[in-house]
Amino acid sequence: MKQKSMLTLESRLVQLGVGRDERTGAISFPVYPSATYRHPAVGESTGFDYTRSGNPTRQILEEGLAELEGGRRGLAFSSGMAALTTLFLHFSAGDHLVVSEDLYGGTYRVLDQIFAKLGLSVTYVDTTSNAAVAQAVTGSTRALLVETPGNPLLGVADLSALADLCRERKLLYIVDNTFLTPVLQRPLALGADIVIHSATKYLSGHNDLCAGALVARDAEMGERLYFLQNSTGAILPPSDCWLLMRSLKTLALRMERHCDNALQVARWLKQQPQVTAVYYPGLEDHPGYALSQEQASGFGGMLSFRVKDPQLARKMLKNLRLISFAESLGGVESLMTLPAVQTHGDIPVEERERLGICESLLRLSVGIESAGDIIADLEQALK
Ligand SMILES: *Cc1c(COP(=O)(O)O)cnc(C)c1O
Repeated sequence: MKQKSMLTLESRLVQLGVGRDERTGAISFPVYPSATYRHPAVGESTGFDYTRSGNPTRQILEEGLAELEGGRRGLAFSSGMAALTTLFLHFSAGDHLVVSEDLYGGTYRVLDQIFAKLGLSVTYVDTTSNAAVAQAVTGSTRALLVETPGNPLLGVADLSALADLCRERKLLYIVDNTFLTPVLQRPLALGADIVIHSATKYLSGHNDLCAGALVARDAEMGERLYFLQNSTGAILPPSDCWLLMRSLKTLALRMERHCDNALQVARWLKQQPQVTAVYYPGLEDHPGYALSQEQASGFGGMLSFRVKDPQLARKMLKNLRLISFAESLGGVESLMTLPAVQTHGDIPVEERERLGICESLLRLSVGIESAGDIIADLEQALK
């Protein structure tokens, strides 16, 4: 057999955990629910002492996550917010962060309502503009956090250009890679220091798990993040680690179908008279189209669109049959949401309106049902 490190990402995903349980040869790496581990003697350890600090099932998952993103250290958390919160604990009072304004609402909430009290300050900028990012950096800026494509408007940030800026200004460069996953976009290879995931979304992919991940490019930052996680405790339980590993095996296959379906749905939506705008980086007239082709190998399964008025948006959500009106994204099942009221409800209304997140904007997580069925459901719901 080929050395596993020489395999393609697709093959390595499928092979996650295979051959790692040497004692039994189990193909599916087992769940180790043990909270603690017997020491062979004083001063000796099997490598596992206590499950918050390390667990065999979590270890296999974490090594897999690091490998997928091309980093030195992966850490599995109980949610995406747990991963972000642990990461923000790296900073100190007085530190300033520059963050994408087209952002997951929960990230905004934790920074605005919790970390602000602890002395972290944040400037939200349009990270699709390198100049806007550069302008926001001050003497106390410690990090840049970029979400690309943005949420919910799918703006595309130039990951390599922002890496240059972070290097110049000595900023920690963090990318939320939830929307595209390492199958389509690998921020560490483009110069990022840390990747964060809500693994609740595409990585788990079945709307049945809440999980998060951090991957650090270098070992020193990885150790620092591990220290923070072990100290504060937001670990992913072993059974959920197993479920996430199982899901990762089909990630490449799922992403391919998500991308194909989303492009078909976006093209269809564009032709509908009741739809006034479609936001999907895979449409040729999307401002991030060319850049996406350079830095990612696909456009993903997320899109947003605007209908004529808020009443039509509400009516549509009510009429959906196949697609569920639900928060979250990235699962095999198609989901639609009204960001202004749900995922982004905690962003102040003036700020939301400035960004264009109004009540006629709908966000669609295109699932892996057949594209024809998804389109037929949208068609009947629009009527
Ligand atoms: C959902 C989400 C999060 C938060 O993750 P949870 O798993 O819900 O805690 C963070 N970033 C993005 C882009 C998300 O979509």
